[in-house]
Amino acid sequence: MSIRLEEVSLIYHPGTPFQTAALECITCTMTKGDITGITGPTGSGKSTLLQLLNGLLKPSSGQVFIDGERIDQLGGEKLTQLRRKVALAFQFPEKQVFELTVREDIAFGPRQLGLRGEELENRVCWAMEQVGLPPARYAERTCASLSGGQKRLVALAGMVAMRPDYVLLDEPWAGLDAVARQHLKQFILRLKGEGTTVVLVSHDLEDLVEISDRLLLLKEGRLIMQGPTRTVLNHCSELVASGIEVPVWHRVLLEIKKRCPEINLAVTDVEEA
Ligand code: ADP
Repeated sequence: MSIRLEEVSLIYHPGTPFQTAALECITCTMTKGDITGITGPTGSGKSTLLQLLNGLLKPSSGQVFIDGERIDQLGGEKLTQLRRKVALAFQFPEKQVFELTVREDIAFGPRQLGLRGEELENRVCWAMEQVGLPPARYAERTCASLSGGQKRLVALAGMVAMRPDYVLLDEPWAGLDAVARQHLKQFILRLKGEGTTVVLVSHDLEDLVEISDRLLLLKEGRLIMQGPTRTVLNHCSELVASGIEVPVWHRVLLEIKKRCPEINLAVTDVEEA
């Protein structure tokens, strides 16, 4: 059970002067229960790839499978069902927090699913615990009184309250301070502990590396590396050491070396640029 892309390409505005090849022939697997981190420079196709996974975008060619079912041609009710199973949080999801209180905002989605009374209350409390907002302290708070980081956690609690099997996060910690980033990382690890499969896009490589089981590295719409995090990092460090230009990785490896000297990344030859 997993996400599988086979030779997926996506061209925006084909046949027009604005034609852009955003993804080219991507084949990869995101294993169930893992945290998969997708990274690469701005414009490399990360967000496009994420949006293909819940049917928001359709590939120009190639196939997308979720748990063995082909999803790239789905429409109507089947597409709605898919979006419940594969939830996507765009950048700055806190913009979609609109109810007065935290409890009401998180209850909105599950209520649409038909949950009421104690079942609804239990679901809201469970989701709040997942994101690390104790219900006793936060359920009755007004959303307007929360910090940006807390609002983002409320938005994400609303998403997980629908109990999706897959959670897709686009730049989840963008704009957050160190403490809020830490909360968010703990939330993602808790999701994994619950058996949820997480795919996240970020160009903040240090945070991504810290929690991802696997990494996909995109460059100009092409998948240039994929594999278990440690393997990808080791491979990158070898490239850097052998003088091949991978500037983004050079920076990351230096940072990791600085923060976690105990990790053996074979980066002895990496020097500050
Ligand atoms: P990333 O998330 O890595 O920054 P994107 O997936 O947003 O990359 O973009 C990949 C490429 O597709 C870029 O060249 C971008 O300009 C282009 N692109 C993204 N969205 C659209 C769109 N809606 N219409 C046209 N081009 C787009």
